[in-house]
Amino acid sequence: MKFLYLFILILGCNSLCFAQGSDECSFQNKQISQIPGKNSITKLSQNLADFEPVTFNIYFWGFRLEDNTGNVAFTQENVEAAVERLNTLYNQCNIAFNLLGHEVILSNEFYHLDGKHEFSEMIDAMRADGNVRSDAFNVYVSNEYSGFAGIALDYYGTILGVSSVNLTNSGTLEHEVGHCFNLLHTNETNFTLNCESVVRDPNSQYFNADLTGDFVADTAAGYPFEPEEIDATTCTLNSNKKDCYGFTYKVPSSFLRNYMTISVPECTKDQLTNGQFIRIRNAIELDPFDHFQNARID
Ligand SMILES: [Zn+2]
Repeated sequence: MKFLYLFILILGCNSLCFAQGSDECSFQNKQISQIPGKNSITKLSQNLADFEPVTFNIYFWGFRLEDNTGNVAFTQENVEAAVERLNTLYNQCNIAFNLLGHEVILSNEFYHLDGKHEFSEMIDAMRADGNVRSDAFNVYVSNEYSGFAGIALDYYGTILGVSSVNLTNSGTLEHEVGHCFNLLHTNETNFTLNCESVVRDPNSQYFNADLTGDFVADTAAGYPFEPEEIDATTCTLNSNKKDCYGFTYKVPSSFLRNYMTISVPECTKDQLTNGQFIRIRNAIELDPFDHFQNARID
């Protein structure tokens, strides 16, 4: 069955996570992610607490300069705090992360990544050196990234990176782990040919939230916002833009605070929706490359 899903995945390869706004992030590989019937709206009533508890190992790799200086934020304390943030969020759907450890790698080359392509090169080098664990999520922390804040190598994957400042700041790590679990940005509409309708009544002829956008029906329809369209004090949208069907976008402030929405830094990210958590659990169940199974400890 996994081969069938893999085929569907490859057919659906048309996505990229754009670098923009404060939540800049990128994917090296463009595989995506629409599994027919896997995100049906009827499942939105599912109780998240009913999902079987699952625990994943997680391991952090931090780059320092070859004279063993720099990246001062890469500490045991900050790594533990980052894992705690992940657990606070993902425990809501019975996912936990177990910190296996952290390790410093001395490298002038990977201390600063100048573009997302260098992340991929870094991972190749890490693989060659045996510095990618198959039994854990691998988080790589360079001192600085140019042009992006964090990155997930693949959907359905266990390799990601954040810059040093985003090890300690909340938002980016949670966002990238969301991508690993197959979450898309809520306000990108380029994943499918049809644009996502604002309509959320499943009986409406215009309803397509389960088949377009981020494929999650309980996140509002959105589009790539310009910073000036967002009132940063109230986290509301100041725009009368309409979707392809003529409906004015309706974006609650919770949408702008969703971890997977590209908005403005003032709108602190603090939530995912039930539908997103269900999509996450579906991704873990599907696990087309067995990465999640290998990283599990229970
Ligand atoms: Zn992203």
